[in-house]
Amino acid sequence: MIIETRAVPPFFKNGYVAGCEETREGIVIDPGDEVDELIDAVRRHGLTIRYILLTHAHLDHVTGVGAAKKAFGAPVGLHQADNFLYDAVVQQGQMFGLQVEQQPKVDFFYDGEGPWRFGRFAAWVHHTPGHCPGGVCLAIGRDDDAARRLFVGDTLFAGSIGRTDLPGGNHQTLLRSIREVLFAFPDPTVVYSGHGEPTTIGRERHTNPFLA
Ligand SMILES: [Zn+2]
Ligand SMILES: [Zn+2]
Repeated sequence: MIIETRAVPPFFKNGYVAGCEETREGIVIDPGDEVDELIDAVRRHGLTIRYILLTHAHLDHVTGVGAAKKAFGAPVGLHQADNFLYDAVVQQGQMFGLQVEQQPKVDFFYDGEGPWRFGRFAAWVHHTPGHCPGGVCLAIGRDDDAARRLFVGDTLFAGSIGRTDLPGGNHQTLLRSIREVLFAFPDPTVVYSGHGEPTTIGRERHTNPFLA
């Protein structure tokens, strides 16, 4: 699987491109301020983008949705419970003293697990509330291979967990999502977080100080 990661100031939030080497189909995950670099990566790999999938609707994860949609013409998916955040992206920006443009409406809400397919790969959606009400984990892999890679948004980080002091956040709910949903995956599963370096389920299960 092709995976490209980009992050720019001020939030250094990871935007991702995932693609199928064989069919040249792909998805874009959480396009934010780094969207131009994601568009470059897509063009360099010659990918056709099937979906723009959002792990949640905090400001830093959605400010590039309009540009990505314009570039790729692909539908945008979000969990319905985060739509109130998505619609309030301008006000979210004001909280940080940033001027942010309203983004185009999402095209569909995740309806169960999916999956949403690109080439020989697909993204299965798992609801992981806590950091925000509509947070999800995108578990990506092939039908004929049980291994998955997890794109977890801001639910879990290498050595840390998501903040729960923003509207709709809940610490106990976050811990339950991590333990019951994310830790259901085997130790070697690679985790791509919304900020910082990738990690694995095993490393976080055994060493994350917030989950001891
Ligand atoms: Zn967030
Ligand atoms: Zn974030």
